[in-house]
Amino acid sequence: MSSKPAAAPAYKPITRANVSNTPQWQRLSPEQREAIEVVSAVLPFRTNNYVMQELIDWDRVPDDPIFRLNFAHRELLEPRHFARVAELLHRQAPRAERDAVLSEIRRQLNPHPGGQLTHNVPQIDGRKLPGLQHKYRETVLVFPSPGQTCHAYCTFCFRWAQFVGEDEYKFATREAADLVAYLKRHPEVTDVLITGGDPMVMKTKVLARYLEPLLDDPELDHVRHIRIGTKSLSYWPYRYLDGPDADAALRLFERVVESGKHLALMAHYNHPVELSTEPAQRALARVRSTGAVVRVQSPIMRHINDSSQAWAELWRASVRHGAIPYYMFVARDTGAQRYFEVPLVEAWRIFRDAYSQVSGLARTVRGPVMSSFPGKVLVNGVTRIGGRDLFALQLLQGRDPEWVGRPFFAERDDEATWLTDLVPASGVHFFFEQEPVASERRSA
Ligand SMILES: *Cc1c(COP(=O)(O)O)cnc(C)c1O
Ligand code: SF4
Repeated sequence: MSSKPAAAPAYKPITRANVSNTPQWQRLSPEQREAIEVVSAVLPFRTNNYVMQELIDWDRVPDDPIFRLNFAHRELLEPRHFARVAELLHRQAPRAERDAVLSEIRRQLNPHPGGQLTHNVPQIDGRKLPGLQHKYRETVLVFPSPGQTCHAYCTFCFRWAQFVGEDEYKFATREAADLVAYLKRHPEVTDVLITGGDPMVMKTKVLARYLEPLLDDPELDHVRHIRIGTKSLSYWPYRYLDGPDADAALRLFERVVESGKHLALMAHYNHPVELSTEPAQRALARVRSTGAVVRVQSPIMRHINDSSQAWAELWRASVRHGAIPYYMFVARDTGAQRYFEVPLVEAWRIFRDAYSQVSGLARTVRGPVMSSFPGKVLVNGVTRIGGRDLFALQLLQGRDPEWVGRPFFAERDDEATWLTDLVPASGVHFFFEQEPVASERRSA
């Protein structure tokens, strides 16, 4: 351990176009290389020099969790799709033909689960505000247009939207004005959650356009908590370590805290290795030194973190470095879901086994949780009541706040991976469903 940290490297994206120039490419088998070329023609692929050098253990590839998290591999596509694309690339099919096939496959991959695009979009005077989402009474989500990308792309993620606008400051100013106008009419809102993509890919000055109007305005006193959802502490910790923009970000965080608002970074860490490097730990310490609180959340995914050991270590490392374990999510219904999915019963076993190993300071975490259409559903476990094997469930958030915290039950099903797979124990529908219509439940 040297006492003086080395100068931070410059950010280098590694994509389909340049991955074959990296020294690590030579360590991959011909099959792995082909898989990357084929799959990344369909799904977005991006990693960076920090992830390649510090997070991936190349001796453990392909089973290394961060390699699985960033690098395309064959199983992400259905075999017939893989074969189709491999054939197109092989014979160097004309561009128009290739693009048509690729977009058809992408369409079949269900890129927008949970009715995200059509539900919960707030309005002012009949005008839709597409950069906002307001589902639970207390919290408004903000999706800044210039923040719809990430320092690296997770293979399980379908937030593919790319920012293509010319002037990010203009976008930011207009979107922030909409946000403020909306919040002024909604005194029930206590939380603003800025999310993405990753809002921390934005330059600090652009991020400030969203944050600053929320501070020091007496008409926004009801907004008590500002959260920023980010993977940057894992994928590019130098965002907080290196140079003027890093320092500016920390000063902006301090300004938020000084204004009297609670500032929380909702940090996505999928695996404890992301908290193990020196830059990652230093970045976390610098963020905390501003008075911001860091909370840790992640989905549980096959091939990446489907072990109680990984979770117990993640939560222990979080507490050791001053971050607060928050949610374990169940991976939601996206195209490559088959590859990543963990049945609810197994997710609960892993959760419970990890939870039972850690101190009470780490048991702030809740999970496994499904962010589903009616709300955030917690799988409390499986249990036997009156000779029946049941799931015990409750809502941690609900479209209707009255639904929150009421226990309810479903038939145990060891294959079920989502709320829509579950059969209500009490009859034809769950208490929060108006109509016992299966198709409606399926729209979750
Ligand atoms: C998870 C989530 C929130 C925040 O919920 P908390 O339980 O307060 O962390 C807000 N809005 C939506 C749509 C969410 O999915
Ligand atoms: S960091 Fe978050 S938004 Fe970005 S690719 Fe990963 S899961 Fe998706």
